[in-house]
Amino acid sequence: MKMRLVVLIIAAMLVFTIYSWATALDFDLFGQLYLRYLSLLFAPLGLLFIFFQFVFVSRIKTIESGFGLDRMFRWHRIFGRIGLFFVTFHMILIVFYRFGAYGEILADTFIWVGIAALLGFMITAGLAATYKKLGLAYEVWRNIHLANYLLFPFVMIHVFFHTQTGSLLYYLWLFLAVLFFAIVIYRLARIAAVRKNPHEVVEVRQEAEDIWSLFFDGPRFSYKPGQFMFIQLLRDGILSEPHPFTISASPTAEYRSITPKQLGDFTKTIKDTKVGDRAFIDAPYGVFSILNYDRGEPVFIAGGIGITPFMSMLRYMRDQKFDKKVTLFWANRNEKSLCFQDELEKMQEEMPGFRAILVMSDQPDWPGVKGHLRGPMILDQLESIEGKEFFICGPPAMSRATMTELKQLNVPPSRIHSELFEL
Ligand SMILES: Cc1cc2nc3c(=O)[nH]c(=O)nc-3n(C[C@H](O)[C@H](O)[C@H](O)COP(=O)(O)OP(=O)(O)OC[C@H]3O[C@@H](n4cnc5c(N)ncnc54)[C@H](O)[C@@H]3O)c2cc1C
Repeated sequence: MKMRLVVLIIAAMLVFTIYSWATALDFDLFGQLYLRYLSLLFAPLGLLFIFFQFVFVSRIKTIESGFGLDRMFRWHRIFGRIGLFFVTFHMILIVFYRFGAYGEILADTFIWVGIAALLGFMITAGLAATYKKLGLAYEVWRNIHLANYLLFPFVMIHVFFHTQTGSLLYYLWLFLAVLFFAIVIYRLARIAAVRKNPHEVVEVRQEAEDIWSLFFDGPRFSYKPGQFMFIQLLRDGILSEPHPFTISASPTAEYRSITPKQLGDFTKTIKDTKVGDRAFIDAPYGVFSILNYDRGEPVFIAGGIGITPFMSMLRYMRDQKFDKKVTLFWANRNEKSLCFQDELEKMQEEMPGFRAILVMSDQPDWPGVKGHLRGPMILDQLESIEGKEFFICGPPAMSRATMTELKQLNVPPSRIHSELFEL
């Protein structure tokens, strides 16, 4: 589903919500009722934004394929904040109104249900923003965050008991409740389907001191080079959490593969995986692929382990005998971080249009390009930016800086694509 269509649907639902609210009003903007009306506008708006949060993390393929999961997760965070803002102010305004009108809050059971759900959302949102500072593991925070699926039905109970039966808002709530349960069922069905079709590890290969590739055999699925998977490993009877990794193999290869670099709890255990271990693969996701933007000459800009989607794309181009010019810039601290070096050298012989430029920031005796990979350096190496399609993948800070610099060098934003390795 194209992003524009999703934006249009969101806008239409917002307009419908405001319309439903307005039709239920008997305006009295000068009495205290205006507090109540405003509060009753903030409630449905907040609920709508919170509902969309679930849509954005649902991984529904038809939406994701035009959007990219990283962007959906970003929207999830933004919509969550806006939703919380609205429902918090809904609560504050209604308290003021009730106090002004009746001298007390007059809370019924369903009001307390709403307040409790709101507090729950505040806690899960607060943890999402601060888990790193609090020193919480990603998995701990993520599992607490899943409580939002339990909180939402309580919000629905709160609103159903405070909405006039048969009003437009009432039907809107019914519609959202049905969609919410459809999303939950979709996710559960997807998990069940993945569990039913396990893959098997057929090779564990060391690529560099701290980088390992795992190769999998199992039910084939089609994907575009550059896309990623969520993987859970079942080792010694222990099932890992799902982690996202680029599929480093080309779709033309016999086996699917991932190439994790050791970073934290999970990636440090990749080397302990054994041939015959099981893997549950949920794929493919992402829109970062030359096949989605097959217009100009590709320029790949990788930082460190951000090379993996480009390996998938280059392997695919080699196997499909692409005859386009393609340039790879790969930034690393020093050559100890390199992997796939021999394969890249061989690819340059096999694909005459392919040039790999390896840039080291922290190795004075490196015979190639030295320094930090920056926009002007990229421009120096290319004859011009005309007709080029830029793809960037690396540490988020480096990717964002490179994107900004390319824009400053007059590369149109529509010709810059990125994968951030963070959801
Ligand atoms: C689209 C995408 C593609 C990726 N491809 C690769 C790749 O090809 N090679 C590679 O080395 N790394 C890749 N990563 C990064 C990889 O997912 C993380 O390095 C890994 O999950 C870290 O887990 P950990 O427990 O070892 O580290 P931790 O120290 O627990 O986590 C480090 C950071 O990784 C992220 N992270 C941790 N666990 C998860 C999880 N379960 N789900 C989502 N994010 C998590 C969080 O931002 C966390 O702060 C990719 C990430 C994304 C989003």
